[in-house]
Formats: sequence, structure tokens, C-alpha cells
Amino acid sequence: MDPLFDKAQTYLHHLCVALPGRSVGSDGNRAAADFFARTAAGFGFEVETPAFACLAWTSSGARLTAGGEAFAVQASPYSPGVRAEAPLTVVDSVEALAAADLAGRIALLRGEIAREPLLPKNFPFFTVEAHQRLLGLLEAKAPLALVAATARNPEMAGARYPFPLIEDGDFDIPSVYMTDGEGQRLARHAGQMIAVEIQAQRAPAAACNVIARKGGDPARRLVFCAHIDAKAGTPGAIDNAAGVVTLLLLAELLADYAGRLGIEIVAMNGEDDYANPGEQDYLRRNAGRFGEIALGINLDGLGYRAGRTAFSLYGCAPETAAVIEASFSPYPGLAPGEPWFQGDHGLFLMNGRPALALTSERAVELMTQVVHTAQDTPDLVDPARLSEAARALNELARRLGA
Ligand SMILES: [Zn+2]
Repeated sequence: MDPLFDKAQTYLHHLCVALPGRSVGSDGNRAAADFFARTAAGFGFEVETPAFACLAWTSSGARLTAGGEAFAVQASPYSPGVRAEAPLTVVDSVEALAAADLAGRIALLRGEIAREPLLPKNFPFFTVEAHQRLLGLLEAKAPLALVAATARNPEMAGARYPFPLIEDGDFDIPSVYMTDGEGQRLARHAGQMIAVEIQAQRAPAAACNVIARKGGDPARRLVFCAHIDAKAGTPGAIDNAAGVVTLLLLAELLADYAGRLGIEIVAMNGEDDYANPGEQDYLRRNAGRFGEIALGINLDGLGYRAGRTAFSLYGCAPETAAVIEASFSPYPGLAPGEPWFQGDHGLFLMNGRPALALTSERAVELMTQVVHTAQDTPDLVDPARLSEAARALNELARRLGA
């Protein structure tokens, strides 16, 4: 029996079931970070938990009624609370929005204008000009509240249906979202009074990354990271308790590590947050020092029961690629996979460092059916896959670090 298998199961249960959720700024998120810090310290790592400011959001639901009928709505994540009763204006294109007078009204956004999730206003890594323009136009029109009716869009919005058009702590117009079907029903009330109530609070909060270090020269190091946060309201098993659990198994395997290169294991806190505050903090604290990182390894979305674990290389020198290949080849559950870029290995790439990423071979299936929903539960994860990945990474750390 593999002792790491039982550990993986216990850690998974703790992160996904025992804790109340891991969205950045929540109590569950702080408890998860504490758990990670304590466990890594138990394997002889020096642990730091540098804190940063973030936004906590709590909601106890939303309601929408029109003409005595109730509609199924959810509060957009990070929406301010509101209680509004006003006439409804239906908006289905940017042109219609530009021409509309929304002062003192509630706007239903549907169709083309609500096709894909809008990137947050201050998203740090890139911008989509059309989204910026749309958000700016909405702010200028200043409706009392927004209702977004969204359709299934696996390519742009993943598994969520309906998906929140807006998920942005810097956008101050209250908003709810509903299915396209509900939107069709609601559009019949155009020009009539409707009522929207959102019970929600935003509050400044603190969170931290967890940085665990061991051995060697920290000015020449390997960085293993996995994001520890999860979308609010989801257990976040595949995304990404699985990665965090693998890091803890790796920490145990590296308990006696004494190689030449330093090892840094990071629970990154914010990959699924609208502002990526943990990633921002990590970039700030390592500004000018990314050259110290010999290889950045990111674990996100691995461990799915179906299919193998896929690894992909980014900017690795041939010697490094050969060591990765040699370290992983004894593990049949690991296979080369397609490169992907929506993950924390991007932090290394944007700073010109080589990277390695591990995810599930069937990541696309997960992204379009499971990730960011309540269905992302521990039963989807095979603890044996996490144990295998941890052993392969241990092999890699010892070969590269020697
Ligand atoms: Zn995610």
C-alpha cells in the first residue's frame, strides 16, 4: 500500500470538504493557507506567509421579480448589494447601449453583448479592448442595476451555465445573472417596473501566499507552485486542491533534500480571483530576482481519474528538457501534453524563465464540464495520480538540484 495515497486522500478531504471554501479573503482560504504552512513546516521547510490586501465578498442571494413573477437569478461575484425598483431596458448590442438612456433604470444585457465573460476592469495581465469599452460605457450610463442573461459558451465561459458576465470587485454597478431562457422571459417586461434585490457585502480583507523553502542556495532555485484558492461556492478539487495536495506530498518526499539548488514550494493565492492578488504579490516580492529561478513548475488541474497526467515545457534548454524526460519516463501515468497558457507558469514565462506545467490529459473536458462548478468534487481525483506526480517531481528536483 502506498502511504502517499492515504495522505493524498486525507489532504483532499481536508481542503475540499472540511473547509468551507477557499476563495481569496475567506476564512476557509486562510485555514487552507495555515494548513499548508503547518504541513510543510512539519517536513523541515522554512515557511513564510507574506500577507497582502484583497477583497472579501459574501452574499446570501439575489431576487428578481417582474409583473408578479419571480425569475431565477444569482448575484454576480463581487457585486455590491442593492435594492432597486425601476423600469427595465433591454440592451442586446453595444450600439444599442451607446444609444440608450439608462439613468434610473435597470438594464437587461443579453445576446451579443452578453456573449462572453468580461475581463475585470483592472485585470493585471492583459486587456481586451472591447471589454474595457463595454464596461466604461456601462459606467457612463450608470443604470441602477444590471441583469445579464448568458447562454452556454464552453469555449469562452467553461462549464458554468449561466455564467456571470461580470466578476469584478472594481466595478461598482450591482448586477445579477440568469440563463438566456430566463432572459427571454424577462425581456417581455421591457419598459415595465421590475425589482432587483442583491444581498451582498464587499469588505477589505487579508490573505497570503505560503512560501516553503529548503536546502541549497536560494539565489539559484527551483520553484514548485500550485494555486490554493478556489472559486467561491465550489469545492475546487481538480481546480486546484489536487495541485496543492501534490505539493504537500512532494514536500514530504523532499524532507531529507540537501541538493545544491534551493527548493521553493509555493501555495499561490489568487489564480481564480478577479484581481490575482497572490500572483501580483509574488511578482512584486521577486521583482528583479526572477533570474534566480532555474525552473518554475506549476501544477493545476491534475489528478483527473480519466486519462493520464500531461506535462508541457516552456522555454526549457535541451539539457533541462532531457532531465525532465529522464525523471518522468519511469512513471507511465505521465505523458507529454499540449502547451497551455492560462496558469501560474505564466509568471515565469513573462519574466523570461523556463517553466514546466502539469495538468490532466483530459483538461478540455474538465474545463468545459466541471471546473468552476459545484461538480468539482474530490471523487473526480485519483489520489494515486497525485502520488505518482509527486514522486516524479521528487525525482526531477533531486536530478536538477544535485
Ligand atoms: Zn480555476
